[in-house]
This record gives sequence, C-alpha cells and structure tokens, in this order.
Amino acid sequence: MSPLFPALETAADRPALRFGDQILSYAHLRAAAGALARPLAGRQRVAVWATPSIDTAVAVVAALLAGVPAIPVNPGSGPKELAHIVADSSPSAVLAPAGAALPAPLAALPRIDVGAEAGGAPAAVPAPDAAGLDTAAPGDPALIVYTSGTTGPPKGVVLPRRALASTLDALADAWQWTAEDVVVHGLPLFHVHGLVLGVLGPLRRGGTAHHLGRFSPEDVAEALAEGGTMLFGVPTMYHRLAEAAPAVPRLAAALGGARLLVSGSAPLPLPVHERILALTGRRVIERYGMSETLMNTSVRADGPPATGTVGVPLPGVELRLVDDAGKALDAADGETVGEVQVRGPNLFTEYLGRPEATAAAFDGDWFRTGDMAVVDPAGHYRLVGRRSTDLIKSGGYRVGAGEVENVLLAHPGVAEAAVTAAPDADLGERIVAWIVPRDGAAPPSAEELTAHVARQLAAHKRPREVRFLTALPRNDMGKVLKRELA
Ligand code: ATP
Ligand code: MG
Repeated sequence: MSPLFPALETAADRPALRFGDQILSYAHLRAAAGALARPLAGRQRVAVWATPSIDTAVAVVAALLAGVPAIPVNPGSGPKELAHIVADSSPSAVLAPAGAALPAPLAALPRIDVGAEAGGAPAAVPAPDAAGLDTAAPGDPALIVYTSGTTGPPKGVVLPRRALASTLDALADAWQWTAEDVVVHGLPLFHVHGLVLGVLGPLRRGGTAHHLGRFSPEDVAEALAEGGTMLFGVPTMYHRLAEAAPAVPRLAAALGGARLLVSGSAPLPLPVHERILALTGRRVIERYGMSETLMNTSVRADGPPATGTVGVPLPGVELRLVDDAGKALDAADGETVGEVQVRGPNLFTEYLGRPEATAAAFDGDWFRTGDMAVVDPAGHYRLVGRRSTDLIKSGGYRVGAGEVENVLLAHPGVAEAAVTAAPDADLGERIVAWIVPRDGAAPPSAEELTAHVARQLAAHKRPREVRFLTALPRNDMGKVLKRELA
C-alpha cells in the first residue's frame, strides 16, 4: 500500500504536531517514530497510554509505521475499565511517555518508553533507516479503538489501514482539507474523533495538528488567532465556547476567522448552532461517524450549510435507511425514520474477539449503525437518535428523543435536557424529560416545560414526567449516558 503519511518523506521542516509549546517537524516526527517503530516489529498488538501529549501521537505513528496494531487506552480509565480493555485485547506491550506511572494491570506488561525530542534544527536529526517500515497491506489491522461505552461495555473495534486512509481522504474532499490547514482541538486521543481525525488527519494531509492539551475557550481563542484554520470539537465544547464568548476577549472574532468549525460525536443542539452563528457569523458544520465506520457523512465546506443535519454521504461511502424488518426504505422525504446502514471502505473488520457481535452487526456487507435518521430530498441525513435509547414508542407514535430535547433546550430556563422512555401501562412508553435548570434563573416548573413543548410540537410529543437534576451523567466525549438515567 502507498504510505499512510507521504509528508513524512517530503515535508521536512514543516510543523507536524504542536502540543502547547512543543512543536515537532515532519523530519523530527519521522526520526522519533521511525526509531520507536523498530522495537515494535513482530509484536501482535500494543497498548498506547494515550495521554493528551505529543508522545501519544508519536507512539501511534510508530505503530502504524511498524504495521503493529495500536490500542489507545484512556489514561483516565478506572481499574474496572482498564481490566476490561487489557483482558479483552491482551496487548503484548505498552507504549507510554517516559516517566508516566502506569496502573495495574498495564504496569505488568513489557513497557516501551516514548520520549519525543521537540524543537531543534531539522538538520540535526539523524536520518533513520526507513527501509521495511510502512509496508502493511490495506486490510491489515492498524488501530483497535474501544467504543465510547454509551450503550454498553466498550467493544474493541479493529480498523484496517484502508479505513483510515479512505476516511481521511474523503474528509479532505468534503472539507477541502489541505497541507495549509492547522487543525485545533483539545479532544481525547483514545477515540476516533481526536486521534484519527484530529491527529492522523492533519498528518495525512501534510498539515499541522495543534492540540491544546486541555480544552479551554481561552486556548481556543489563542490557537485560532495564531493561525489555526479548523476547529474540531464535541457539542459540549461548542456549548462552552458559546457560554464563554461574551467574556473571553477575541474568542468570537477568532471563531469567526476560522475556515471551518466542525462538531461531531453527539448531536449539536440547535440552540448552540444558533448562538455560535449569532456570536461569530460562522456556522458549525456537523459530521457523523462512529468507531466502527469512521466517518459516514458530513456537511460539505462547498455545499449548503444544512444546519441541524449531518450532511451527505462522504465520497465512496454508501448509506441507506431500513425499516424495523430490515427492508430498505426508499424515502427521501425528510420524515420517514429508518435505521442507518453503511457500507464502504471506511468500515472496521471486526469486534476484537467477538465473532457473534461482529456477525450481528452486519446485514450482508451493510453495517447496522443502530442510529435512526431521516433523509431529505437533497440527500441530507438528520439523526433522530439511537435505536436502543432514543426512539420512544408512545401511544402508537414513534418519537425521536432529539426533537423533544432541542425544544426543551430552547427554553430560557433550561441549561441541559435529555429525554428518555419509561414503561407506561397506558401508552406503552411515556416520555420523560431530565432537566438541568440554568444557573441563576428561577427553575421552570414541570407544567411550564410541558406546555412549552406542547406549543411547538404535536401533543403526543410532550413529556409526561419531568425530573430535575444538577448535571446529566456524561462520558468523556460529553455523550449523555441515558442508561444511567433510566
Ligand atoms: P457504544 O457503541 O459503546 O455504546 P458509542 O456508540 O457512543 O458507544 P462511538 O463509536 O464513539 O461510541 O460513537 C458513535 C455514535 O456517536 C454514533 O453511533 C452516533 O450515535 C453518535 N454520533 C456521532 N456523530 C454524531 C453527530 N454528528 N450527531 C449525533 N450523533 C452522533
Ligand atoms: Mg456505538
């Protein structure tokens, strides 16, 4: 296969990675990752202690060059989660930043230290012998990424090289993403969003990944003002940016000056879209993907804004909607809800060690996403929720949780909202709204919120029960854990 990162050979002194004040040129990255790739050769798979650091990026690039699948591990994992991942994937070694303390059971594995040298003149870098590196075949496993665990225990998703290359090239087409782009983000590096899109994406283009270390609105403003062209974030980050903009100097102008603001991993509520647009004059665009499929759709940089949708299928990716019986729907009417199925070169090969789960996830060569959507006549997909938690069957109607959530979020007294189903003797399921009231405002009453929904949506979509909380349970990607609410 052609190299995953052609710029490693050609882009010598251009910046490849920037983490805080640490900058690594392509020549340095090639030297550091090339040296680290040697001791990996022949290993079955390796864990990477994925701190938000330049070392994590170097470790993953090294594993890709060596053709050894890398398993990024959340350094914030609790003992139970770590035990699950290590038992599930049995890595033969762990790559970790030199000096980082590793908890059990990772500490028991053979350890390979990563200590990237940043800065310095590219001429001082010894040219490593690259022979024999970066020769894996398109179908060879490249990464094993654990899902976010939103709906159940995280599963190890085996991603082949082909999927990485094809998804990043399809995004380049949709976003007109080039070597000139500097991608700014503060995303975790153990999921697809931060690692594949946010680090491997810029490296494949020959551009720069600028990681903030830790997300903060102040640092976003600074990084964009210093030349960042694209911002990647999850909805909670855009929410925080909208909240912070009035108080953070230059933030609104910096966001307005970026070429592309991209959101994904969870639905971006319409009120957040509107606030960012009003503050910055820029629209956030959404893309839709998952660990198993990498990216499926996106709003295109050269297309209509299609706010509230996740855009159109990426080049090379096919999508279809199916009904409950798995029959393909032929309904680009913007109303008929079906489950999204995907096929294309972007797909994973298997859930590690779970042949039954893998088989159950496919209908022939179509992958069943578990996400429910509608598609409009122009081909834009709008996600309405997950089949397992967000599709409520109430009184003979099917109600998407997201639609009700968006209306609740538009109420001035509501900071956060989640909608779930509860069993109901009369309705089958009844709609329950979980509300975090906005700070400082008098909390709205349950009656007020129910009436607010009833004013905007059909009567059967109003919540029958309203519960108040101080915060919604969320995972590290800011996704609401609805199974914990229920
Ligand atoms: P698990 O599979 O362990 O329950 P998860 O599905 O949250 O967790 P990921 O693969 O990280 O794990 O997330 C993929 C899911 O995220 C998609 O199936 C979809 O539900 C959601 N998602 C991704 N992008 C968007 C988006 N732009 N809008 C709405 N939802 C999105
Ligand atoms: Mg999932």
